[in-house]
Amino acid sequence: MAQIIDGKVIAGRIKDELKGRVADYKAAGVEITLAVIQVGCDPASSVYVNNKKKACEYIGIKSLAYELGDETTQEELLKIICDLNNRDDVNGILVQLPVPKHIDEDLVIKSINPKKDVDGFHPESVGALCIGQPGFVSCTPAGIIQLLKRSNVDIEGKECVVIGRSNIVGKPMALLLLRENGTVTIAHSRTKNLKEVAKRADILVAAIGKPKFINKEYVKDGAVIIDVGIHRMENGKLCGDVDFDDVIDTVSAITPVPGGVGPMTIAMLMNNCVESVEIQRSK
Ligand code: NAD
Repeated sequence: MAQIIDGKVIAGRIKDELKGRVADYKAAGVEITLAVIQVGCDPASSVYVNNKKKACEYIGIKSLAYELGDETTQEELLKIICDLNNRDDVNGILVQLPVPKHIDEDLVIKSINPKKDVDGFHPESVGALCIGQPGFVSCTPAGIIQLLKRSNVDIEGKECVVIGRSNIVGKPMALLLLRENGTVTIAHSRTKNLKEVAKRADILVAAIGKPKFINKEYVKDGAVIIDVGIHRMENGKLCGDVDFDDVIDTVSAITPVPGGVGPMTIAMLMNNCVESVEIQRSK
């Protein structure tokens, strides 16, 4: 019987642990503040931003909301980020992506003070991860490491295959698995013999962005599967990059969609906000 890795339960535990740490900081006179900036009114982004605000409220982190119109210029956005960078009372700055097309996303990411980069997307944060120094780590892959550790899945020495090489999931995921002493392969859209490569995996992370792409032909007997994809099907239900029903009898453990990786992303954002206090003190 495969173990279903319950991201909702694990994320709930992490949030409760963080709530305790935030209360300790408060008792010591330290309030943690996250600034969340949304440009435009993309409905999916509004849902994510709202969920982040709710998580902040639950944990006891103060959130500052900047809801900017579609017509906001790049200069106006950069000015707001610059002001927040300079405010001692703001610990974390998050710009909800994507931003409208007339704004240069890379420039926006680079303009955030790396000490307040709670999304972990700044080149300095990515570089620190790459060379094994402390810094903010992208929330979704950081959450996946927590899912594995808290489900007693050993990473050390294991064959880990990450399918997908995006900057926010695939690449940091591979670096984190390497940091945990996994033997890591990154596969992507140009990989030859993907089924063979994927079948080597003891731990297979699917971050492809294609619904139900991974079936049992890609999966070794007893593998642990982490499904990062989120897709809304025609019947309104959510599914992942993995064909759950097809692989369930082959795997030893798997994350469901919904309720697997998804809830961990916000929990790890909250973790980064709490960690920001020490990161800001230490540098
Ligand atoms: P992306 O589109 O930036 O990257 C997809 C990657 O998949 C690319 O690197 C590409 O090389 C690879 N790929 C595409 N087609 C392939 C193929 N046929 N064979 C092998 N590799 C292929 O996507 P992303 O931002 O990394 O997100 C991936 C998925 O995860 C999406 O469904 C996204 O919605 C989801 N996601 C979920 C969370 C969460 O919190 N659960 C967070 C981020 C992304």
